[in-house]
Amino acid sequence: MPTDNRKKSPALFAVPEREASGDDSLPFEETHARGKRDESAPVCQLCFGTGLEVVPGKGARPCECRKKDSKAKLVSSARIPRRYEHCTLQNFYNVKGNGFIWRAFGEAQRLIKEYYPGMDRGLVFMGPVGVGKTHLSVAILQGLIEKGVPCLFYEFGALLKEIQDSYNPVSKSSELKVLAPVYQAEVLVLDELGASKPTDWVRDTMMQIINTRYNDKKLTVFTTNFFDTRRAPADETLEDRIGVRLRSRLYEMCKTLLIEGEDYRKRFDAPKA
Ligand SMILES: [Zn+2]
Repeated sequence: MPTDNRKKSPALFAVPEREASGDDSLPFEETHARGKRDESAPVCQLCFGTGLEVVPGKGARPCECRKKDSKAKLVSSARIPRRYEHCTLQNFYNVKGNGFIWRAFGEAQRLIKEYYPGMDRGLVFMGPVGVGKTHLSVAILQGLIEKGVPCLFYEFGALLKEIQDSYNPVSKSSELKVLAPVYQAEVLVLDELGASKPTDWVRDTMMQIINTRYNDKKLTVFTTNFFDTRRAPADETLEDRIGVRLRSRLYEMCKTLLIEGEDYRKRFDAPKA
């Protein structure tokens, strides 16, 4: 009978991945400290460089060394500026934390917890300088990177400058090497929306980026120092800065969180009178 031969050569089954706490007798660091792909370092002792760890009698699973590599790659490709690298939800605090700030904190926390690919309703953190908008946005990226989500951080002005610098007057287009990651990142933070002088080119470029992400159901988180309403007669609103069309698109694709409060950096640095 042909079925009798089946058990002679067992197939290699996929086995559950290693728990964070480690389910093997040796601690992860001991067996795996040499997992980096450095020429001088011995090859990873769990997978011998294959990326697949064989569990005797059970099967194979993705090796920890590759997971570490992929997290390091996510961190570096997110391009979080060094001065914000430390920003997480755990170290977010505000001396005079008020209702606005804690609501924004709660939304950041919720977004990290509930995120799934295709979730397309992002956030706009709207408020004066120094209330923690960038900190919260970076904290969202850090939390999502922990979950393995490819993220990208850009300061609005810096992004526009990079696009502008790569603009080719002959082809009348900007290089895709700048734009592709902005289009493709699962989650994008665009910091200081509206900070650049609002020319037609700036508005068209932003509309193109944001529409592309919107159509592809990619999540975007914005911060802005501009408000929807004028606080003084000479104030510019966010709509003045980015245009009516873009502001209304943001209403569709994001929840706006108004944060009122004092600049915490001033409070920390101010000499005590
Ligand atoms: Zn390995």
